[in-house]
Amino acid sequence: TEAWGPDDDKPRRSAGPVRVRVPAKINLHLGVGPLRSDGYHELNTVYHAISLFDELTARAGDTLTLTMEGEGAGELALDESNLIIRAARALATEARVPAHARLHLRKSIPLAGGLAGGSADAAATLLACDLLWGTGLSRDELGEIGATLGSDVPFLLHGGTALGTGHGEAVSPILARPTTWHWVVAIADGGLATPEVYRELDRLRAGGSAPVALGPADALMAALRQRDPAVLGAVLGNDLQAAALALRPHLADVLKTGAEAGALAGIVSGSGPTCVFLTADGAHAQTVAAALADAGVCREAVTARGPMPGARVI
Ligand code: ATP
Repeated sequence: TEAWGPDDDKPRRSAGPVRVRVPAKINLHLGVGPLRSDGYHELNTVYHAISLFDELTARAGDTLTLTMEGEGAGELALDESNLIIRAARALATEARVPAHARLHLRKSIPLAGGLAGGSADAAATLLACDLLWGTGLSRDELGEIGATLGSDVPFLLHGGTALGTGHGEAVSPILARPTTWHWVVAIADGGLATPEVYRELDRLRAGGSAPVALGPADALMAALRQRDPAVLGAVLGNDLQAAALALRPHLADVLKTGAEAGALAGIVSGSGPTCVFLTADGAHAQTVAAALADAGVCREAVTARGPMPGARVI
């Protein structure tokens, strides 16, 4: 029941069920520029998709329904406010088809963790429903719809490692020789609301107490080409880190513990509170993850690899 489109690596239609796996993202570089008149900050970011996945299944149905299991089940509303429902409706409106599907989410990406889980789910929904409904849009067309739902959706449709500009929605892939990077992801108890973290950064900047802004990602891009984790570790940076630390001072202990455990570098992921650590290889990642878990500074420490492809049918 599947046919592959000519200019895209995705199939065209499936009678269902359609199962899509989508990764979490981290930002290797997150340069936050000034607040624009449209309420967004101008970003210079390097996105990187890692092997921590949500899985969305879409089945034919008579109405639009959503169920879920895993991370955040019971906390996350499954109504019209959910990005999955909003993504399905946005695609149905664009393609002029009825928004009929039974959607089920298996969630592993923590809520409000700075890993773009909501945007990941929206990306997975756009891809799954496009196939289920046979609407036949390209990844770029799905990305345009997705950008109206969350700045990270276009990246999560493409995956890999990519430069993000605008408010993050304008994505261009970074072509580097294939290298696998090994990460440890320290998942916190509870989330941080992204808008609150941006507001805190604006406040720190207004008071003159924010670190100098990172600006463009040139050093990071050069480091990626060298394929040496020590080199990459030296240039990881996040303008939101100071704000996340101000709101969650305990994150300093997480970063310190990772450094003491021998991680090559550690940063807050996006708006936090998740922290990510770069390690030399898979064995080193396991050692650092174990040290973080033993210290009891986070809810859970898991290893992950990157880059990973974006939303894909499995
Ligand atoms: P980002 O890094 O993109 O700022 P985040 O990782 O910090 O995001 P998310 O988990 O993506 O945070 O979502 C933030 C909020 O979006 C949640 O607290 C929730 O209120 C809302 N939301 C709506 N739908 C979803 C969804 N399917 N998954 C997660 N959050 C959702």
